[in-house]
Amino acid sequence: MQGTMRHFALFGNPVGHSLSPLMINAAFGAMGIRAGYESHRVDNLELAVRMIREKPLDGVSVTLPLKGAVMAFLDEVDDDARAIGAVNTVANERGWLRGSNTDWSALSAAMQEQFPLGGRTIAVLGAGGAARAAVHAILRAGGTPIVFNRSRDRAESLARWFSCETQPLAALGTTEADVLINATPVGMHPHTEQSPVDGRHLARFEWVVETIYNPLETRLLREARAAGCGVVAGLAMFVRQGAEQIRTWTGLEPPVELMTRVVQTTLAKNRR
Ligand code: NAP
Repeated sequence: MQGTMRHFALFGNPVGHSLSPLMINAAFGAMGIRAGYESHRVDNLELAVRMIREKPLDGVSVTLPLKGAVMAFLDEVDDDARAIGAVNTVANERGWLRGSNTDWSALSAAMQEQFPLGGRTIAVLGAGGAARAAVHAILRAGGTPIVFNRSRDRAESLARWFSCETQPLAALGTTEADVLINATPVGMHPHTEQSPVDGRHLARFEWVVETIYNPLETRLLREARAAGCGVVAGLAMFVRQGAEQIRTWTGLEPPVELMTRVVQTTLAKNRR
């Protein structure tokens, strides 16, 4: 390994459960880059951003609940992140902090490896950060999103922001859509017996896409498979958003297959 040591971090609260350090450090190791990536639980965001400049950190991943708030402290935010209203990646370019969002591009790539988004009508379940990334990805690719969410006011505010359609959650079972994306945490570990959608409604969708990656196969995906739908697991999005962060920080191509394997093996072990 060559060069000076480079430092990267994950900012969020909480961060203890994240598999990003494991995945990204494994990638740096395989790429021969002298770098460390650590989790920081952030209580004071302004101080944390100051640390990027002072330590200095070369790059930062940003997770819940800081993705929106961090934008105010950066020197530049790219157009996609601004359109979504969230930054999950900060690059420190000689003291100039540039924010971007790799969630939308990762989700877009994970889906478009399986099916084209253009021309499709896509039901997005949720109205938080992941749903915003999903709606942006769909619109960018020429698809039509319809937002469904538990609280109507949040669904309406997201639909206004993107000028897209929203329907009441109760209409999900009768809606005319080709694809369903789950952008809620329903079904996530440890509540793996839950699903955000009644299994009887799934056969109407050609594809069901999950953003949750723990467990690797949620109840929603299991039921979707049984109903004959194609499925895209949340792991594909998770690995791609991390891989895109590494590209942003280093300009180099990360080992996507190794990153997938590391996360898969860890999650499979934790299940026992
Ligand atoms: P968020 O901003 O907190 O939004 C959560 C959304 O889920 C809200 O719209 C909320 O509805 C809805 N929701 C929460 N609990 C619900 C329940 N019990 N029943 C129905 N709806 C419920 O969270 P987020 O950042 O968007 O994250 C959502 C999911 O995406 C998480 O599972 C996260 O792990 C996943 N994610 C994955 C990746 C990846 O790389 N694979 C990246 C980002 C996020 P209300 O508005 O009614 O509260």
